Amino acid sequence: MKRVFTGLLVLLVLLAAGAWAVRDRIALRIMERRLDNAMAHPVAAGLSDGIHVAICGAGGPFPDHDRGGPCTAVIAGKRMFIVDTGEAAGRTLGRMGLFGSDFVVLLTHFHSDHIDGLGNVALQRWGGGNLTTPLQLYGPTGVERVAAGFAEGYALDSSYRTAHHGPKIMPPSTAGIQPRAFAIPDGQDSVVVLEEDGVKITAFRVNHGPVGPAVGYRFDYKGRSVVISGDTAPSPILAKYAKGVDLLVHEALSPTLVNLIREASLRTGNAKRAQIMQDIQNYHTSPSAAAAIARDDKVGALLLSHIVPPLPLKALEGPFLGDARKVFTGPLWIARDGDLVSLPAGDKTITRTSLLR
Ligand SMILES: [Zn+2]
Ligand SMILES: [Zn+2]
Repeated sequence: MKRVFTGLLVLLVLLAAGAWAVRDRIALRIMERRLDNAMAHPVAAGLSDGIHVAICGAGGPFPDHDRGGPCTAVIAGKRMFIVDTGEAAGRTLGRMGLFGSDFVVLLTHFHSDHIDGLGNVALQRWGGGNLTTPLQLYGPTGVERVAAGFAEGYALDSSYRTAHHGPKIMPPSTAGIQPRAFAIPDGQDSVVVLEEDGVKITAFRVNHGPVGPAVGYRFDYKGRSVVISGDTAPSPILAKYAKGVDLLVHEALSPTLVNLIREASLRTGNAKRAQIMQDIQNYHTSPSAAAAIARDDKVGALLLSHIVPPLPLKALEGPFLGDARKVFTGPLWIARDGDLVSLPAGDKTITRTSLLR
């Protein structure tokens, strides 16, 4: 009896080991297929002609499980532009499959939450192929200091990588960041910062004082248009440039929810945090104020991003929006990392999918 029991036990152990080995082989095979697929079919190359807006960071400066620091990629035709590079931007762009061909970065302003992922984005690009220049970094005056700071911070890392892989694989000539500063002339409210391959990018002043310069960007390509607000209180200049656009990506801060944090800070004796929660409200825009701009400008769709504060419960989306859905009755979405909003050339459709879910 004892011998039969031992035999059965050995058989079970062998079967289990066999099952694990089969499972491991299947996992490796799946991984192999996924790698081939991802490398042979980059996501951006598979998109239709038109403008596609990919959210690579829908949050603000708060730690947020669902939303990284501010980052919005705009794919227009064969070009890709990344507006702001908040924390985790590089990782999220990688998870979305958007690294592949070259891109430029445009900064709206130099608040830490909009630039703290820049080093990794520049590094991921450098490790990609077919580059002829360092990363081109567009931004208002001051972008030179940001570029120089990151270049110095990453100088040792770059030297290690060139030494390890060789200058053919990691050439110093394409490492680092090349600033492309622009200034909006006095008396004007905008400047065209780039016009190439049918894509026109206009920077316009926004209202984020005391932070300045601070800009938003408008993208035009083959009759489709997108405005990205950057950080701003409700801005008449933004409203001027967002008139009739297909998609308005507007920042949003909920005073109701930020005041909850302020009051909790006061109750628990943190007067400093309470003051900061008070101060941040005057240079951002509430969801209903963003909705009013979308309504008055007759935009095609409104995508709220730079979501402040974080929404750890889905049920908080209602209190976050307040009456925004009553104010703007068109498509209105709260952005999440991975969102892809597509505006195909040649028609008026607007669709939202996700590259992460
Ligand atoms: Zn911000
Ligand atoms: Zn800001």
